[in-house]
Amino acid sequence: MDISVVIPLYNEEESLPELFAWIQRVMDDNHFSYEVIFVNDGSTDRSWEVIENLRTQSDKVKGIKFRRNYGKSPALYCGFEKAQGNVVITMDADLQDSPDEIPELYRMITKEGYDLVSGYKQKRYDPLSKTIPTKLFNATARAVSGINNLHDFNCGLKAYRRDVIKNIEVYGEMHRYIPYLAKNAGFSKIGEKIVHHQARKFGKTKFGGLNRFFNGYLDLITLWFLSKFGVKPMHMFGFLGSLMFIFGFISVVIIGANKLYNLTNGLPYTLITDSPYFYLALTLMILGTQLFLAGFIGELIARNAPERNNYKIEEEF
Ligand code: UDP
Ligand code: MG
Repeated sequence: MDISVVIPLYNEEESLPELFAWIQRVMDDNHFSYEVIFVNDGSTDRSWEVIENLRTQSDKVKGIKFRRNYGKSPALYCGFEKAQGNVVITMDADLQDSPDEIPELYRMITKEGYDLVSGYKQKRYDPLSKTIPTKLFNATARAVSGINNLHDFNCGLKAYRRDVIKNIEVYGEMHRYIPYLAKNAGFSKIGEKIVHHQARKFGKTKFGGLNRFFNGYLDLITLWFLSKFGVKPMHMFGFLGSLMFIFGFISVVIIGANKLYNLTNGLPYTLITDSPYFYLALTLMILGTQLFLAGFIGELIARNAPERNNYKIEEEF
């Protein structure tokens, strides 16, 4: 099979028939053998009925129905597991991405040897509240990941060589960083294609609000940590720990010597320990470090939990 199209969706009933018809047209025009995997991420509207209905019209339609809403990353994960095509293309369900891009994406993977090609919505039809933070986000993601040629990490339209998606694990909300996941898995030929973007035709965005940026950055730090220290945490903890211990030890020696031999010799100074801020700063710093490290350790443990990718699927065809 040439192409698997994986489409995660949450309450997109209005878009699905038009989207599938469009994909079908493009595939038939280019004589591709293909499948379209709809992953219904716990929609509360009639999306699943629409998918079942499409299935009766074409056996290219595959479907996975989650019991509840898990998020876009789990939806992609399960779609990737099911995908059989040599090239796997992901696409949002809301008709913002154009299926007309598929042939060129396919060509870049099969002919130009790319492992991953990400869409780049150079001209974007989203509100400013989305586009400005996205610029910031992408700049950080480029810097941290070292993938300097990508402008749009989070573009829903992407194409992958089959090996790539079978060798990465998209969990949590890591769909924003799939190129980074791919790079960490050893797939380094990552490219970009400028794609057409349209305003959302039906429904509204499922990703709004401030905490998505915050979570997004935490995920990025986690990935950076995992790729650098994931299998050798001691390189980080050991170094930091030693550094702190040495500074602490030196401080203790100085304070002790000062106490014993009165080195400051009656110079006028106030004790820093008189200030309540000293204790506040100390406590916050210690607690902050602890929390941060606890988060990393939790992450390491979570990634090894046997049920981490155990999503409840209600129905599948
Ligand atoms: N989506 C999903 N599960 C979720 C949220 C979103 O499968 O919990 C899907 C959604 O239906 C769409 C894609 O992810 O197909 C991108 O979402 P959206 O268009 O709302 O994001 P935006 O384009 O506004 O960034
Ligand atoms: Mg969208």
